[in-house]
Amino acid sequence: MAYTKHWSSNEKLNKTELAKLEKDGLKIYEDIPHYAKNGFSSIPKDQWDLFKWAGLYLQKPKEAGYFMMRVNVPSGILTKEQANILAGIAKDYGRGIFDITTRQAIQFHWLTIEEIPDIFTRLESVGLSSAGACGDITRNIVGNPIAGIDPDELFDTRDIVKEVYEYFQFNEEFSNLPRKYKMSISTNLQNAANAEINCVSFTPAEKNIDGAVKQGFHLKVGGGLSAKPFLAETVDVFVEKEQVLQVAIAVTTIFRDYGYRDKRHRARLKFLIADWGVEKFKEKLEEYTGVLPSKGVEPVKKWNAGYFYGVHDQKQSGLKFIGFNVPVGRLTADEVFELIRISDQYGQGEIRTCNSQNLILPHIPEEHVESLLAEPIFNRITVNPNSFIGHSVSCTGIQFCNLALVETKERMRQIAEELDRRLTVDVPVRMHMIGCPNSCGQRQIADIGLQGVMIRNKNKEMEEAYEVYVGGTLESGGEFNKKLKGKVPANFLTDTLEHLLHFFKKEKIAGENFYTF
Ligand code: SF4
Repeated sequence: MAYTKHWSSNEKLNKTELAKLEKDGLKIYEDIPHYAKNGFSSIPKDQWDLFKWAGLYLQKPKEAGYFMMRVNVPSGILTKEQANILAGIAKDYGRGIFDITTRQAIQFHWLTIEEIPDIFTRLESVGLSSAGACGDITRNIVGNPIAGIDPDELFDTRDIVKEVYEYFQFNEEFSNLPRKYKMSISTNLQNAANAEINCVSFTPAEKNIDGAVKQGFHLKVGGGLSAKPFLAETVDVFVEKEQVLQVAIAVTTIFRDYGYRDKRHRARLKFLIADWGVEKFKEKLEEYTGVLPSKGVEPVKKWNAGYFYGVHDQKQSGLKFIGFNVPVGRLTADEVFELIRISDQYGQGEIRTCNSQNLILPHIPEEHVESLLAEPIFNRITVNPNSFIGHSVSCTGIQFCNLALVETKERMRQIAEELDRRLTVDVPVRMHMIGCPNSCGQRQIADIGLQGVMIRNKNKEMEEAYEVYVGGTLESGGEFNKKLKGKVPANFLTDTLEHLLHFFKKEKIAGENFYTF
């Protein structure tokens, strides 16, 4: 099904919309076996975009025929078997690169069309999928990476995330949304799922109903980054646990049927919410769900930006979860195999991914923590990273991304490691680097956001440079960072950041961070 048309006859559909009406994105699954048999040259150019619905993008340069694949990891939770399959794909097909994204997913590079059917079979064998990981469809559902083991979570959200994720997977009722659509479901009290930057978020809430305190969710809608970022706003409703799927379907139906399809750059849910306001949105929502109770109270304490470094108590007595740094989210396949071995030997084999591009090994008995931490792999994937590399995030950038203007991942890593050699600050400084305004690396919520641009130098040659933004946060409802004047050529970026950080260090009071500075 396409969508219910709520358009007046003089409203025009954009080119992508017309193409989607010709052929639904998920139909690419029917064509992939044919293309795999006949090679990349058998894929008509006008079909390239449809691969997104299968979680596949052509990497840079497109004509070379290599794909990037994004695999959904709902709430960032991977079993031993799932992690093994992913590491195997990275090793056998992806030249050993295993990237953790800012939405808890996993990305591979260098895949050829011939390899895709076997990769799908492997993913399917352990209940994983790349369907909807890209495209105008419900993306990976982000959640609490410590769901089920979090001593502070309001309640375990694993089954709810699974139910909602599985409902939208391969669901042709919702495979033609106006644009990408991002959901988070979490009851982590430190907002580990970055609720305010999702299109729709279910956040922890309690409400007294008929004399009994019920645990459930508040609903936020209309967040999102890219060139015109918005923070999600809270709708005045309380959603009980059992109602999450119904409400998720209602919100998605509204987006599908009322979201803008004329101009692609205004097609995200955030633009509809900005125009309607949350009051009108609530009225529409209740046409689908019936009347919902008004808001309760929010127990969210603060924002941890998805960082869990160190050894922590699980809610299960005697067990620990341990948060490790993965520099700019990139692992090798061999490292992942080693992490699985360690997680299996000391715990239950599970690996969890965070929005900060880092990972967690859960279920480690207290008495095994010391010997686990002595394993050589944790010299690089460290539990207690240096501050700058430990708080650096980067998008894919020009190495693989067709939209990138500049290099990001390797540059961010080198800059962060150099800054760690040059200075220390008494608070973490979260730096996010992105290669274009699409903001996959979530530049807007960073203490220091670095956005790639091209500039013309004195010799009239084009060169890579960065805009610098400061003071982003999702603390207290959130605030996006602000742009500083000028653009910094890539060669001067480390020195410029060092100056900025020395200034910050000199002027700040103890404990003050970039947001409060
Ligand atoms: Fe590519 Fe831009 Fe996203 Fe970076 S932010 S991965 S450059 S689209």
